[in-house]
Amino acid sequence: MKMPFVDLKAQYETLRPQIQARINSVLEHGQYIMGPEVAELEARLADFTGAKHCISVSSGTDALLISLMALGIGAGDEVITTCFSFVATAEVIVLAGATPVFVDIEADTCNIDTHQIECAITDRTKAIIPVSLYGQPADMREINEIAARHGNIPVIEDAAQSFGAMYEDRKSCNLSTVGCTSFFPSKPLGCFGDGGAVFTSDDSIAEACREIRIHGQSERYLHSRLGLGGRMDTLQCAIVLAKLDEFDREIQLRQEKAELYNHLLDDAAVSRVRLKDGRSSVYGQYTIFSTKRDELRAALSGAGIPSAVHYPTPIHCQPVFRDTLAFKELNVAEEVCELVLSLPMSAYISEQQQRSVVDALLMA
Ligand SMILES: *Cc1c(COP(=O)(O)O)cnc(C)c1O
Repeated sequence: MKMPFVDLKAQYETLRPQIQARINSVLEHGQYIMGPEVAELEARLADFTGAKHCISVSSGTDALLISLMALGIGAGDEVITTCFSFVATAEVIVLAGATPVFVDIEADTCNIDTHQIECAITDRTKAIIPVSLYGQPADMREINEIAARHGNIPVIEDAAQSFGAMYEDRKSCNLSTVGCTSFFPSKPLGCFGDGGAVFTSDDSIAEACREIRIHGQSERYLHSRLGLGGRMDTLQCAIVLAKLDEFDREIQLRQEKAELYNHLLDDAAVSRVRLKDGRSSVYGQYTIFSTKRDELRAALSGAGIPSAVHYPTPIHCQPVFRDTLAFKELNVAEEVCELVLSLPMSAYISEQQQRSVVDALLMA
């Protein structure tokens, strides 16, 4: 049997009674849009992160777009972000009408290089979007200090891969002006479709996000601002609620699985993404570096083991972004994209599966 990249089936088998009970209860009350599970989930997630507000939305991408809209970012504005992320991080900047300014990453964590952020700031910089890539928060303290030095530029953490991770004593999504996450099924906390959330402790940003996700409506059929259809379904909220009780334990399991990979790969002299002091990762991806990446992939695939490349092309090299404003050379990302390889990872991967992954790597 082929090994899954993310074992959602094993998770479902473990949590089946809770998940089915939650789904059935939505089917019984029938409030599919903005039902009671929506506010229940928002309260639970705000409490989990420590942020004052949580606004559930239709996806991680929409969480980012709604945040930019809530901050009033649009034409003529520049938004600094990493060139090494899922395309959504940059896409939303253009959709909001602003210009992405790409900066490079650190070679060992693959997170945004904070030194380059400061050089990229101009008087048109209206936001900074660091990504907490692979599940490890970016250097948020440093980024917040840079933003504060330059007139309190809002910082939006793209925490789509890092929900549950810690930076010092705070949770990802509660590390800056706004935090955005995704509940895409394969993310650390996933639903069974699309979903996401915006977190903030700023009352007016929260209110703006709540209006924007429902067509800019401040009262029924009174549209005070431009918005979109950006709500998260009640059913998806119910599924996240069912999974939330187990989430802390799943994070612990992911970290234990990562430790085992670390140990096995150290013996095999394979290098991997570095975890910096004062942070934890939820291992949204478990990612290694190799100059023989494509041979390793082929060897894994030959053994029936899936793997993935996050990401093969930096965003500024994608055809759709070719004409955007890239900040000087982005050499690190252009090199790292040839080296990265993500291995199967979930709270439910077995030791035997992990050993077979590493054995297959050693065969290459
Ligand atoms: C998954 C992801 C997104 C988008 O989330 P969706 O819920 O799929 O829209 C944005 N940024 C990063 C870094 C992601 O990994």
